[in-house]
Amino acid sequence: MTPSASRAEVVVDLDAIAANTAVLRERVGRPLMAVVKADGYGHGLLPATRAVLAGGADALGVAVLEEALALRAAGITAPVLAWLHAPGADYAAALTADIELSVNAGWALDGVVAAARATGRTARVHLCADTGLSREGATPVEWPALVDAAARAQADGEITVVGLWSHMAYADAPTHPTIAAQVRVFEEAVAIARAAGLTDARRHLANSAATIALPETWYDLVRPGIALYGLDPLGGDAATHGLRPAMTVRASVALTKRVPAGVGVSYGHTYSPQTETTLALVPVGYADGVPRAAGNRAPVLAGGAQRTIAGRVCMDQFVLDVGNAAVQPGDEVVLWGPGADGEPTAQAWADAIDTIHYELVTRIGGRFTRRYVGSAGAV
Ligand SMILES: *Cc1c(COP(=O)(O)O)cnc(C)c1O
Repeated sequence: MTPSASRAEVVVDLDAIAANTAVLRERVGRPLMAVVKADGYGHGLLPATRAVLAGGADALGVAVLEEALALRAAGITAPVLAWLHAPGADYAAALTADIELSVNAGWALDGVVAAARATGRTARVHLCADTGLSREGATPVEWPALVDAAARAQADGEITVVGLWSHMAYADAPTHPTIAAQVRVFEEAVAIARAAGLTDARRHLANSAATIALPETWYDLVRPGIALYGLDPLGGDAATHGLRPAMTVRASVALTKRVPAGVGVSYGHTYSPQTETTLALVPVGYADGVPRAAGNRAPVLAGGAQRTIAGRVCMDQFVLDVGNAAVQPGDEVVLWGPGADGEPTAQAWADAIDTIHYELVTRIGGRFTRRYVGSAGAV
């Protein structure tokens, strides 16, 4: 990692994001919709988007309309699908900006049709089926009526159904019986839609885990997110899939001090060194997205070794016990990164605090600055 004087920064490797995109695109040999929601999984919406496009992504996927509109406002012209809407969503603005919309209910279809009439544009719609996640799709009971209404709107020229899609509950457990069950329900939903005349829609089902492990879910388009950022959705070593983590979270030591055995460290004194030691103060905390649960659990690279955070993580800072290592104020510590230089990985943090790396990378922020390295998609 390039040395830097920054107090606290998230370093994002754009070339890693582009290379990961290319690896996945190559693996599936069909179009890839890169998911860049949640500020590009914490890597920065626009830089991450430009990097996935440089890596060969064919389309972009986001959760909410605001994210899609931000892409258009920045001049991104690639196809964009936004799939999570609530009543009151500004579908007219979406159509004006040429954003594709997921529809999962009759009231939502009515809203999209009204927006199509108001703007004079034909809406590009992806119908979403609930095939067993019980989350954003229409259930098998609701599906035939939704399909019929969509087919009528398509015949009237108000919409074109360009996608039929669903989402997996258990793709990270590739032998789980729900996988075959969801594929079966999805294929029934597709058959119903095709019988109703929606014959041109592309089918898409695969998130990152399915893109890596379940070729039977690839259909006409895959829809990975986390793997683009180099993290293994299966919870293992991303390198086994040819992926490289793009994010490094680092900070500079703010203060060091020698303390005797037995002092209490940080709020509640939940940590005490057994012997005289050096404590190093790291100026980032839970307000910056370092989970409070990391206290006495998560590893940090400091002074040439990984050390568990000493005591509680505070709002703005935490403490490391670095023993007799010659750590000085200004020295770099690394919370997580690719793991190539002895630093912990986001996966190691996730394991240590009982969460998933998705949550760690999307929540890191606060007063960290972001710095980009690599040139993929740079403007
Ligand atoms: C977030 C999301 C994805 C991407 O999931 P990953 O596990 O990050 O690959 C794909 N589809 C939908 C509907 C999502 O919400």
